[in-house]
Amino acid sequence: MLKIGSFHSSAFAHLAAAHLRENGLMAGVIDGSMSAITHVMASTLNKGAYELVIPSKRNETLARELLKQFETNPPEIDPDWENDIAPDLSKLDRKLIPNCPGCDWPIMIARPLGPCQRCGTKYDVLDMIFQTHGPEALAPCYETEPPLANMTDAQVCDIAIDCPACSYPLDGLGVRGHCPECGARFDRRELFNGLLGA
Ligand SMILES: [Zn+2]
Ligand SMILES: [Zn+2]
Repeated sequence: MLKIGSFHSSAFAHLAAAHLRENGLMAGVIDGSMSAITHVMASTLNKGAYELVIPSKRNETLARELLKQFETNPPEIDPDWENDIAPDLSKLDRKLIPNCPGCDWPIMIARPLGPCQRCGTKYDVLDMIFQTHGPEALAPCYETEPPLANMTDAQVCDIAIDCPACSYPLDGLGVRGHCPECGARFDRRELFNGLLGA
């Protein structure tokens, strides 16, 4: 895992990860706030306790570009989302995500309250889906099943990842096994579920 940024806000860190995933890069958040030492260190260094991480350093340049893009024009967040009830927007059915009410371009799920990157309109994508499709359309966002549960093994294997022990690229080596370089055991589903906060 490679850390590419840190945030004070859990909700903000998760939206940054969603922004990377929307752009085709696997990313997740490691919650360092559980450790008292991390927390003290973080406030001393004026860094956040929530680390944005990617599973392969090969994607570092693109990840940093996307993070910069995210930080240059940050999304609105709902203050309630800091209280551990943030919906997992990555589980929304993409077909139900409406277009921006201002410019009719597709809404980015990393910007659930806008403002739209194109026209600056603020909106509430969960409320829009609720109004059009009813509460059941939002139910998957609050379920706790592992994020990769619906992905096939082939899809899981397509995500670039390096050996957690020695950083050797694990391309083409199946869902689980042993690193050919250092012999460490790996399980892609376990690694990604950890990364995605399951
Ligand atoms: Zn717009
Ligand atoms: Zn290894």
